[in-house]
Amino acid sequence: MTALAESVLRRLDIGLAFFYPEICHLCRMERATAADGFVGPNCRSQVHFIEPPFCERCGLPYPGDFTAPFECSNCREMKLQFTSARSAVVAHSAVREVIHRYKYQRALWFEPFLTRLILARALPALDGQGWDIIMPVPLHPVKQREREFNQAERLAASLSAASGIPLKASWLRRIRPTATQTLLSRQQRAANMHGAFAVRPGVRLNGERVVLVDDVFTTGATTNACAQVLRAAGAGDVCVWTIARGL
Ligand SMILES: [Zn+2]
Ligand SMILES: [Zn+2]
Repeated sequence: MTALAESVLRRLDIGLAFFYPEICHLCRMERATAADGFVGPNCRSQVHFIEPPFCERCGLPYPGDFTAPFECSNCREMKLQFTSARSAVVAHSAVREVIHRYKYQRALWFEPFLTRLILARALPALDGQGWDIIMPVPLHPVKQREREFNQAERLAASLSAASGIPLKASWLRRIRPTATQTLLSRQQRAANMHGAFAVRPGVRLNGERVVLVDDVFTTGATTNACAQVLRAAGAGDVCVWTIARGL
């Protein structure tokens, strides 16, 4: 990891280190520091980084021995508006629990752990590839008030600080509250997201290449709806980065 990325992570640790006992907040059986995001080595070893082969478009990992680039059957059927979606890790057990507690219970001490995961994979992939802007997937203002923070915005800010790609956190807005997607089918999710996003009035993009950041990628309905709006507003290209990939 670069020195800049390390300094971004160190900044996240400040303020947490003095208030919590140095114990893993997942298993409570091992030592873990604020710098680790209070996730110990044993729990960290269960994290499953995504390795190739995966779908060139949506990043879905495939077992097997593909060497040529390929697109999965879902991507071939859907009109996807982003060029590629990539996630650092698989959204299972430890990672899923950490993200859930971070988002819904304001367990902010996990943030260095999560930030480290996305930086580990996104920084080298984005480096030198000509990306112009980083944007988080926005929350609806009502939901953001309830939750008190937007997890995607915090991740996007760290990725921006570590990569040097400027952050435009308020250019994209969620203009319609949406039902929770958990129990919806792929088609229902796409319909649920229709008209949910808009760029801020007055924002015009001029071919900029946008990195869109979220915490979890599941069917891509949310990020695809964002990418559609950004492309319509003039973005030249949209890629998606998330911490975790639901399988
Ligand atoms: Zn542990
Ligand atoms: Zn795919």
